[in-house]
Amino acid sequence: LRDCFPRLDVGDAFDTLGAPALALPAPETNGVPEKSSGEDDAVRQELIDVLSGHAMLMNTDGDPETHWAPWSLRYSGHQFGVWAGQLGDGRAISIISTPHPDDPKLTYELQLKGAGRTPFSRGADGLAVTRSSIREFLCSEAMNALGIPTTRALSLVSLPELPVYRETVVPERAAIVARAAPSFLRIGCFEALAPPQGVFFIGMGQQQEADWDALRRLGEWVARLLGIWDEAEARKDGERKPWAKDLVLEVARRNAKMVAGWQAYGFMHGVINTDNVSVLGLTIDYGPYAFMDVFDPWHICNHTDEEGRYAYKAQPTMIVFALRALLNSLAPLVGYEAHEGHAIPPDWSSSVTAAKLSEWRDKGMQLKEEMERIVEEVSAAEYGKLMHHRLALRKYEKEDETRIISPLLDLLGEHKLDFHGTFRLLATFRPSLVQEGASAELAGYISTILSLTGEPQFLNREKAAGDARDWLQRYAARIESERGEWAGAEGHFDEARAQAARAANPRFVLRQWVLEEIIKKVESDAEGGKRIIRKVLQMACSPFEPWGAEDFEGDESSLDPEVREERR
Ligand code: AMP
Ligand code: MG
Ligand code: MG
Repeated sequence: LRDCFPRLDVGDAFDTLGAPALALPAPETNGVPEKSSGEDDAVRQELIDVLSGHAMLMNTDGDPETHWAPWSLRYSGHQFGVWAGQLGDGRAISIISTPHPDDPKLTYELQLKGAGRTPFSRGADGLAVTRSSIREFLCSEAMNALGIPTTRALSLVSLPELPVYRETVVPERAAIVARAAPSFLRIGCFEALAPPQGVFFIGMGQQQEADWDALRRLGEWVARLLGIWDEAEARKDGERKPWAKDLVLEVARRNAKMVAGWQAYGFMHGVINTDNVSVLGLTIDYGPYAFMDVFDPWHICNHTDEEGRYAYKAQPTMIVFALRALLNSLAPLVGYEAHEGHAIPPDWSSSVTAAKLSEWRDKGMQLKEEMERIVEEVSAAEYGKLMHHRLALRKYEKEDETRIISPLLDLLGEHKLDFHGTFRLLATFRPSLVQEGASAELAGYISTILSLTGEPQFLNREKAAGDARDWLQRYAARIESERGEWAGAEGHFDEARAQAARAANPRFVLRQWVLEEIIKKVESDAEGGKRIIRKVLQMACSPFEPWGAEDFEGDESSLDPEVREERR
């Protein structure tokens, strides 16, 4: 990241604070290392000021004309399926967007979340409470470590002096996350420029019409970002290359891949409104998210989502809903290009009439089926690939979904077994366990799996053990069928498989209770809280390491011994 922000002249501060992310102390007590020079202190303070929204970032050439001006995005969107009019970044302020010095195609934008009001804050304060900032900070990095496309988190700055009022009369403390991504553009950005009926209202009676030229320019910008359009190249050919269809399909592909990652790793976003769906297919806006504990396909992590619109199992469908909203906004452009055989010209808005618009829109909407087929294919392929990794299967067989994967999830769901815990345990499974003569060992193994039930009082042990045995037998046969695939692998077959499985199944998962413990700790003891955030960040960034319960012990843990024993 430092390479990406050469103009953010912070000397060695990044190194001294530690990669990949920093948990910064509060500006007031900024914890400057005692031995550091005055210059280091100043640099560090400058970094803190910038990342906490107290100072504006400038070009180091000192030219006042080229100050980086902070900005926020305008977007609209569908919230819980309903058109919500104008929203926009109410508490997100971007402070810089700059290409990597060695790779101009790689651009990163740095954004502060919770740094105060913006033109889109509406009645709200533009701030973020510490608990939500901690949740976003840690989960962005946890998702990245699991290989799921996401915005990243660079820093977390606490502002203990700044009160924020939320659900209680007692104020909470503010905190700011600096997050980074090539872009934070969302599907809602397109919807803002071409609202569903072509017209919508902002505030009292203020009318907003579609802005066709802005839509073209935004489309070109995003197409360039996605690497599917290059204006210079297009000019060389003397003709502007069409991009609208490719744009829709590429956004669809990327989001299909992302949601497959969510499903395979039991991540629940909680608020997949179209303003929270990135055009780059990045997981964005960490709110009421949760990782699956005990497996429940219809688990709802957002307590305001009464109907379960964004329940785990509904997530892929909800991504399709968002992509349809994108297509709705871009359909006239897709249709125009298909009709005319060339890209939208710069002056096209003058040729937009109601009759033409409806003709182009109808044509553009014909892309819907192809788009949905692509989402289906891409997400099934990605999900299959990830689940094969999780089960340490090397050969892809079409029946695996119905014979192995889905029955395993049924088993977990029916007996309320722990999702990640079971997968991690399966890494130690050997086909020899189901052979005759190993029945005692198998019974022991199954009983370990069943100990991960979330509802021991309701567990029908006999039925659960029988179901587990049936599935393990099937899994064992499936594993045996590809013994040859592992011939070249290092170590014994079982060990080679176990190693592969451990590398795909996290030992550390950022579960709700972990987050709750951290937040409780931060509230009662800021220093201890900082230590535990660093520890959990380390674990979340290397989730496949064999972390043990002892990693949570010592003075860094606020866990009550009895609770700890139970959770272990
Ligand atoms: P979300 O559900 O978090 O995606 O937020 C929906 C909309 O509310 C977005 O436009 C946010 O920017 C805005 N918003 C959420 N919290 C705040 C806040 N504290 N201040 C201003 N705007 C906010
Ligand atoms: Mg949002
Ligand atoms: Mg949010």
